[in-house]
Amino acid sequence: MNVEVVSIGNELLRGFTVDTNAAFIGRELFERGYDVSRHVMIPDDPHHLDKELRASLARSSVVIATGGLGPTIDDHTRQIVAALFGSKFHFDKTLAADLARRYGEDFPTIQNQATVPQDAILLPNTIGTAPGFVFSKDSKLLILLPGVPQEMKPMFLRYALPILEKHIPKYHVKHAHYIHFCLMGEHELDPLMRRWKEREPELDLGVYPSYDTLTLYLNAPTEEALHPILSEIDEKFKMHLLPFGVRHSEEAVNAWLTENKQTLSIAESCTGGRIAAKLTSVPGASHGFLGGFVVYSNALKQEILGVSEATLQAHGAVSSQTVKEMLAGVFLRTGADFGIAVSGIAGPTGGTEEKPVGTVFIALGKQGEVPEVIELHLKGERESVIELATNRALGSFWRKIAHLA
Ligand code: ATP
Repeated sequence: MNVEVVSIGNELLRGFTVDTNAAFIGRELFERGYDVSRHVMIPDDPHHLDKELRASLARSSVVIATGGLGPTIDDHTRQIVAALFGSKFHFDKTLAADLARRYGEDFPTIQNQATVPQDAILLPNTIGTAPGFVFSKDSKLLILLPGVPQEMKPMFLRYALPILEKHIPKYHVKHAHYIHFCLMGEHELDPLMRRWKEREPELDLGVYPSYDTLTLYLNAPTEEALHPILSEIDEKFKMHLLPFGVRHSEEAVNAWLTENKQTLSIAESCTGGRIAAKLTSVPGASHGFLGGFVVYSNALKQEILGVSEATLQAHGAVSSQTVKEMLAGVFLRTGADFGIAVSGIAGPTGGTEEKPVGTVFIALGKQGEVPEVIELHLKGERESVIELATNRALGSFWRKIAHLA
C-alpha cells in the first residue's frame, strides 16, 4: 500500500516556486503513521500528465496530486484525470451556487469551475475557487488538490485525510522521537547510532544536520526499546540537548528567560541583527528579550556601547577585548540580566592572515560576572558565516543559561 505525491507545475520544475506542498503532505502523513514512498514533480502539460499519472496509479495505492486544478488555460489536470477514470463532466448546481454566493453571480469562471467530473467526490475549497477531487477505481485512490498552499492545506487536512485514512491502514504505530541538539556535529552521534541499530535492528533512525540544530530521529517498535537509548543520550549529550520538543536554540532561550523572569539584551556587528531577528521570531519573546544594538561601524561601537578607542586601536573591532567591552556597554545601556555581543569578519573581504574571513568573537554572560568569550574560525561564504555565527551565539548562550549559570 504505497502513497505517492505528485507535484504538478511548470513553475516548480523551472525553480520559480519551491515545492512546499509535498513537504507538508509528507510531514502530515508521517505524523499520522503513513510514509510517502515516492514523490514526483511533473510539468503541467497533457502528455506528461497522462503518462505520469498513469505510471503513478500503476505503482501506488494512493496518489495525491497538487496543482493545475484552476480554470486557466495552463491547468489540464481535471480533464486528463477524468479521461483516465472514464468520467464524464456535469454541471454541479450546488457548487455553482456556492461560488455565486461567495464571489457574485457575474464571477467569470463559475461555469468552468462548476463543471466537474461526475464520478469524483468533491473536496470543498474554503479559501479559493477550485474544488479538489477524489477518484477511486480498482482499490486505487487519486486525490487532486489545488496548488496554492493556503488552499491545499485545509482541504487536505479537513477533507482528503479522512478519506485516505478510511482507504488504507496506518503503516506504523508511532514511537517516534525527534531530539534536537545544539553545538554538535553528526559524527558525534554516528558511532552510537551504529551500536543502537545493531542492538535493535528494527530501530528506524536518521540524523539531520542543519545550520542551527542537529536533529536525531528515532522510531522503535516499542516505547521500552527507546528507554535505554534516550537515557544514554541524556547522559552523554546533556550539554547539547535542547528541551524536549524544542527545535531551535532561540525557542529554548526565550522559554528559559520567561520561566526564570530574566532579561537579555544583545549587541551585533557581523550578524547584523540576525540574532535579534531569530529571538523575536518566537511568540512571547518580549517577556525576556529587551532588544539589541546593531553596531556595525567602529564609531557606533564607541558611541553607543562605549568601546574604547584604545581597545579598537590595539586589538581591532574583531577581538576578544572588543566584544567584552560591547557586552559591558549592553549591560550599562539596558540593565539586562544577561547579554550577548558578537563581532566578526563575514567576508568576502576584510580578512587578514592573523584574522581570516570567518573569525568571530562572541562574549556572553550574566551582568556582574566574568563573561565567557568564544573565538570561532568559521568556514564558508558570507551568508554561511553570518548564519553559523548567529546559531553558535544562540546555542552557546542556551548552553550557558541552561547548564552553567
Ligand atoms: P489556480 O486556481 O490558482 O490556477 P491551481 O490548483 O491550478 O490553482 P497552480 O496553478 O498549479 O494551482 O498553482 C498556483 C500557485 O500555487 C502557483 O503559482 C504557486 O505559487 C503555488 N503552488 C503550486 N504548486 C505548489 C507546490 N507544490 N508548492 C508550493 N506552492 C505551489
